[in-house]
Amino acid sequence: MMTSAEAATSEDALDRIKSVVGPKGIVSDPEQLGRYIEDWHGLYAGAARLVVLPASTAEVAEVVRICSAARIPVFPQGGHTGLCGGATPSANGIVLGLARMNRILSVDPANFTITAQAGCILAEVQRAAQAADRFFPLSLGAEGTCQIGGNLSTNAGGTAVLRYGSTRDLTLGLEVVLPDGSVIEGLRSVRKDNTGYDLKHLFIGGEGTLGIITAATLKLFPRPRETETAFLGLSRLDDVMTLFARSRAASGDQLTGFELISRYGVQMALDYAPGVRDPLDAHHPWYVLLEMTSSQTGTGLRTAMEQILEEAMASGEVQDGVIASSDAQRRELWRVREGLIMGIRHQGAASKHDVSVPVDQVARFITEADAAVVRSYPGSRTLSFGHVGDGNIHYNAFGVPEADIPACHDMVNDIVLGLGGSISAEHGIGISKRHDLTRYKSPLELDVMRRIKAALDPAQIMNPGKVL
Ligand code: FAD
Ligand code: ZN
Repeated sequence: MMTSAEAATSEDALDRIKSVVGPKGIVSDPEQLGRYIEDWHGLYAGAARLVVLPASTAEVAEVVRICSAARIPVFPQGGHTGLCGGATPSANGIVLGLARMNRILSVDPANFTITAQAGCILAEVQRAAQAADRFFPLSLGAEGTCQIGGNLSTNAGGTAVLRYGSTRDLTLGLEVVLPDGSVIEGLRSVRKDNTGYDLKHLFIGGEGTLGIITAATLKLFPRPRETETAFLGLSRLDDVMTLFARSRAASGDQLTGFELISRYGVQMALDYAPGVRDPLDAHHPWYVLLEMTSSQTGTGLRTAMEQILEEAMASGEVQDGVIASSDAQRRELWRVREGLIMGIRHQGAASKHDVSVPVDQVARFITEADAAVVRSYPGSRTLSFGHVGDGNIHYNAFGVPEADIPACHDMVNDIVLGLGGSISAEHGIGISKRHDLTRYKSPLELDVMRRIKAALDPAQIMNPGKVL
């Protein structure tokens, strides 16, 4: 409970924040406010004393300095598409959104780098790279809304990690406002930099708990010139994994995507995503969306893919399949993978997981988890899909009685841990997985994390209540 003197100081601080960002930097329209407060799933309804959108790093730093002095919590926010409630504010704090800091600062084709302010929408970063005949590979379903600062803060994965790595692997330098308002000006664009602790990695995946990322220098790649995409039907999970090993070994770096979808997932896309058609005539228990790309033309990519698929069919791994014959058909195939997410939103409460296991344990994980869930909760139904090439499965158990969801959740996570996996592969911890973190990280690891948090944010104002 605040004393009246503290409350007055705090009100005064809010007034000073308003004058720092000016009228354009304050969100007051009640219709606009909702999207800063409530998360994408509608699971976490927060509250905030103020929502501000600073226009520069200097403004972010000044706002944070005022908050630090007045002990006002700051909730950094990007596109608010995160899936763990990490950007949800609480009533005593302010939302600091980066949306107005959306300028591409430079594209350097010869150095294969791009420098962007944190509020740039991911799709804009991709477009800016393309305009310079370069490629920024980070790609995910929310790319039209999520911001590069959010991608960095969650260390986002997506569909091209197999070839290019996750956001962490794509980052060369960061500019960060620390919880006391000081600024690390680390927009370096060198590829080799062994000068002691690599501090940027604290903020990548830090979910806004250690500071606010205001800009980043990121790696670019040669632009893909040829893309081949296949949609394949398989009868057994073991065959999915054999196909993965076969296609990766045969195509090396050209294999850029290997996504798994169960029949239930395809059905969800058909039922809920407008305009999705079933790519194959017959039903199959499992489907793989396989993509190969080359940054050169005339390399025989199509022939290479056909050869892999012919061999896979001859050995009985693949039952049926289609290779996209146009860019439009390629997009149609990807619509199945992206569209199933719309179906999930209609299934009600579920035990939801974003887990990873060693790639050779994927089939075992799904088989064991399915058996355990269905045995424990008769009538429940499971859905597996995801980035199998990274060992990353989005696993969902629907129809579990609501009171049993926490127990189901722990049961599935225990199977993941038993196989040497992680309970959060790409979405982070936020609010929703804090309980899981304390169960699965060692006491020493948690202690080191807390010491880092205390060193950088002794007043605990930066995104409190998240991760730890
Ligand atoms: P927000 O949701 O606004 O914030 C996420 C976290 O980062 C919060 O903790 C917030 O405080 C912090 N944060 C945001 N900006 C900053 C900043 N500038 N400085 C410091 N902290 C900050 N994720 C994947 O990894 N792979 C996928 O394939 C994927 N697919 C998705 C598909 C859909 C349809 C949706 C809705 C989400 C998907 N996501 C996926 C999750 C989400 O899009 C990512 O986590 C994304 O990186 C979040 O970015 P954002 O800008 O929306 O961040
Ligand atoms: Zn994913």
